Amino acid sequence: MTGTVIKNTGSSYLVRTESGEDLNCKIKGNFRLKGIRTTNPVAVGDHVTVSLPDGDTGYITAIAPRRNYIIRKASNLSKQAHILAANLDQVCLVVTLFHPTTSTTFIDRFLATAEAYRVPAVIVINKIDLLEDDPDAMEYLNAASYLYESIGYPVVKVSAKTGEGLETLRENLRGKTTLFSGNSGVGKSTLINDLIPGLQLATASISSTHDTGMHTTTFSEMFDLPDMDEPSAIIDTPGVKGFGTLEFDRHEVSHFFPEIFKTGAECRYSDCTHTHEPGCAVREAVDDHRISESRYASYLSILEDSEEDKYRKGY
Ligand code: GDP
Ligand code: ZN
Repeated sequence: MTGTVIKNTGSSYLVRTESGEDLNCKIKGNFRLKGIRTTNPVAVGDHVTVSLPDGDTGYITAIAPRRNYIIRKASNLSKQAHILAANLDQVCLVVTLFHPTTSTTFIDRFLATAEAYRVPAVIVINKIDLLEDDPDAMEYLNAASYLYESIGYPVVKVSAKTGEGLETLRENLRGKTTLFSGNSGVGKSTLINDLIPGLQLATASISSTHDTGMHTTTFSEMFDLPDMDEPSAIIDTPGVKGFGTLEFDRHEVSHFFPEIFKTGAECRYSDCTHTHEPGCAVREAVDDHRISESRYASYLSILEDSEEDKYRKGY
């Protein structure tokens, strides 16, 4: 039989079969990714074939080719990677403008990484209830939404506390499998609990006393969204803030900033890095406010990292 992996507990996998039952499974066979050592050969979102020889433990015997997947380093010490999820339709980055502030650098790095993975990204701005009485904050909210929408990223403004915007968020999730991500404290767990009545992911108020903040092993889990007219699911990755940074090639960085890439076609030199070159259309657009300064700053910071990598590797 076939099914979808909905949970990865380290030693075993929970597979939701086509008939809708959840089956505990182990792996039979070798499913390593080429060239990368991973802690989990099978990932949440994988479409798998399962055999059920005896008892109630199944064996995953095959994985269907992945449409996409997101990996991150398992830890700073190990060279192994962890596959966060596979076969995603989109990723959703939950951010807050205040309490806590999500930096634009973090947002832009996340978006660039999603571009590199070719997974569409949606930005969810949570805790808008905290901004409503503050005109300056509202202006900032609208400016931030306008910026990212004008680049092409859907922006959904919500309050997990009051429920405002949740219907619009559900619209954005309809018929899709969406990975949720975000810095801790932005209300990601509260939001997922709101979307899936009955689910009780630990939120800050509950988990903070137990939270050591480090070394927490994280396992992705997929949840079906109820009351949707098309199958829709979200994947939670507890404890995972972003995807980590990919190693971008210096000349590739601009590919992952859609507006910079587009404008860059008009630069005098085709290999323009948009830093110092004469006839750079990107720097001109930044000066004219057609490209946002904060986006350009994020682009430069990723470019700098890729330079550092170069020197470290001794190229
Ligand atoms: P996570 O770390 O992203 O999963 O964040 P939590 O869901 O644990 O939420 C962090 C804190 O923010 C908790 O104290 C929540 O009650 C609070 N919170 C979550 N959503 C909202 C919201 O929309 N408005 C306000 N005012 N507080 C919120
Ligand atoms: Zn340029």
